[in-house]
Amino acid sequence: MSELAPHPQFPHLFAPLDLGFCTLPNRVLMGSMHTGLEDRAADFPKLAAYFGERAAAGLGLMVTGGFAPNMSGWLKPLGGTLRWPWQVQRHRLVTRAVHSHGARICLQILHSGRYGYHPLQVAPSRIKAPINPFTPRALGAGGIERQIRAFANTARLAREAGYDGVEVMGSEGYLLNQFTAPRTNHRDDRFGGDATRRMRFAVEIVRRVREACGPDFILIYRLSMLDLVEGGLPWDEVVQQAKAVEAAGATLINTGIGWHEARVPTIATSVPRAAFTPITGRLRPHVGIPLITTNRINMPAVAEQVLARGDADMVSMARPLLADPEWVSKSRAGRAASINTCIACNQACLDHVFQNTRATCLVNPRACHESELVYHPATRPKRIAVVGAGPAGLACATVAAGRGHRVTLFEAASEIGGQFNYARRIPGKEEFNETVRYFNNRLHETGVDVRLGTRVDGAALHGFDEIVLATGVKPRDLTLEGRDHPKVLGYQEVLAGRVSVGRRVAIIGAGGIGFDVATFLVEPARDPDEAGAAAHWRREWGVDLAYTDRPGGLVDPQPDAPAREVWVLQRSPGRPGSRLGKTTGWIHRATLKSRRVQMLGGVEYLKVDDDGLHIRVAGEIHVLPVDHVVVCAGQESNRPLLDELGVRPDVHVIGGADVAAELDAKRAIAQGSRLAAAL
Ligand code: NAP
Ligand code: SF4
Repeated sequence: MSELAPHPQFPHLFAPLDLGFCTLPNRVLMGSMHTGLEDRAADFPKLAAYFGERAAAGLGLMVTGGFAPNMSGWLKPLGGTLRWPWQVQRHRLVTRAVHSHGARICLQILHSGRYGYHPLQVAPSRIKAPINPFTPRALGAGGIERQIRAFANTARLAREAGYDGVEVMGSEGYLLNQFTAPRTNHRDDRFGGDATRRMRFAVEIVRRVREACGPDFILIYRLSMLDLVEGGLPWDEVVQQAKAVEAAGATLINTGIGWHEARVPTIATSVPRAAFTPITGRLRPHVGIPLITTNRINMPAVAEQVLARGDADMVSMARPLLADPEWVSKSRAGRAASINTCIACNQACLDHVFQNTRATCLVNPRACHESELVYHPATRPKRIAVVGAGPAGLACATVAAGRGHRVTLFEAASEIGGQFNYARRIPGKEEFNETVRYFNNRLHETGVDVRLGTRVDGAALHGFDEIVLATGVKPRDLTLEGRDHPKVLGYQEVLAGRVSVGRRVAIIGAGGIGFDVATFLVEPARDPDEAGAAAHWRREWGVDLAYTDRPGGLVDPQPDAPAREVWVLQRSPGRPGSRLGKTTGWIHRATLKSRRVQMLGGVEYLKVDDDGLHIRVAGEIHVLPVDHVVVCAGQESNRPLLDELGVRPDVHVIGGADVAAELDAKRAIAQGSRLAAAL
């Protein structure tokens, strides 16, 4: 296929983009994503390997994670900065790795303002962020000038380090956004008051960066098009700001959605795909430079659709390129089915960053570990049996076969997927279908001999060089009076749709699965039409792309009436759901709250009978008059084969079969992949 002919499947996605002084080969931007490798000089070779691998697969333009222009802009103490000439050398590792593949990379300049998790933080006004214990110092006029100079200095150093441009972070509630919004800017000087004065700081930074770096340097401005907080910008100010940064010298405008303190999810898996891109489309007629749109675009067909309907000139993806470094080359080659799709779980990327550990990816444990977890071709191909086709077994089988081993995968069920087959039935977790599709495809590509509907015993595993037991988990049973009452159901039969569930339900157990089951019982199934699902979701969460009600794009949420009356219970005291994921737990709790699900901690289960579930809370006995009680009380390892085979050097146990407590797909896939890399 000629590079110049339109791509037959994705003509908009693979159309070049002329920026005047350079031409980008396609419309994909690898968006900025903090990985944790930015913060230590010793990690830059790893950062270079991470970007280099993605550049090699055809990405035209990438943006680094955020680097602060000075200490006050740190995200956390000793966070990554580019401030001094002696720091330039380490960045050259990154730019050389990217340029060796003919790709381009911009450095993101991010000043955290009042979001910095340290006492040196500054802001337009002395107003504490609700998500940060530190109160910022308000910048004086001299301080503002020093901040502007710091941005220009970092941009100049970025150019010296070989970067093709910079992205100035003006959204997500960071410093520039704090200046533009009345919520956080209470000044009454040249940098506060009316819209022109509030946006002066951001516009001046763009102008001075352009002045410092010359005309042939990419300057992306990340503009908050939807603040999603009270006191955010009205739409006419968004337009005014876009025009002003264009006039000040921006090459491209990228889309920012939602402040970090917003109580609307913006990137979680329950956010429908491309739910926010129409806002970029609304801005497009007002400016002359190309616009980039973002958030929940993870497959080429979605990206193509967004570009074809004119929402933007480019699409930005960060997590999907963590999940699959070859996203672009696979899409270009018409191999979309081979893409390891980002399921927007946040479990290994954002959750890690918030826990101060290196980011990686639940579906791709090599992400940010490219130079450490390497799948070398096997020197001596072995015969390997993998028992169980859940996440751990699938990862192990496909990595081992990809290395050249002869792998047989035994699965007792009639389909692959294990626990993923329950997760993908939860409204808002449909992305798990993609992971099952990816593994089905990958099994075929790597030539794994898949034996579905086959329950094996020890004798059947005779003759294999290595035996991997990935037999998963079984639900923990309860010792409770009335356990055998017909009202009592297991979560697996509920999620598989094998039983019909009544209108009033109590759920025993408030872990991830208890919350999932509650969501399954109260949420309507999602509209298969993606645009329809997005519009419905925006109504439910109070997002108004037309800005008809309030600045910031907010409107009163209109949640659907719940399909059932549900109680979620746990024995431990405290708030159910407090142990769910750092960046997504609040969304699950808010979803169930909006569906009027009642959550109780400190519950003692007494019995189940025809009247319902009898419980004791704070010394008082209550009867929940429910039709059904669904048991979601955790898991136990399922490994009868280990007892039969015994502990031997050629027998390996992975995933939930190894450790059922805190069972999760992230650990399962990482463990399976790492074992396969070592066999
Ligand atoms: P879990 O998180 O360990 O929760 C089990 C629940 O059962 C707890 O609320 C526990 O609370 C209760 N429990 C434990 N033993 C019990 C007993 N003998 N009788 C009554 N209640 C009992 O397990 P899970 O919900 O099965 O989830 C498994 C894993 O799947 C999670 O660790 C998570 O990684 C993953 N997952 C996550 C999500 C998510 O984050 N959205 C969704 C699905 C799955 P008390 O002991 O206080 O009663
Ligand atoms: Fe996507 Fe989850 Fe991987 Fe993050 S951890 S990149 S959200 S699949």
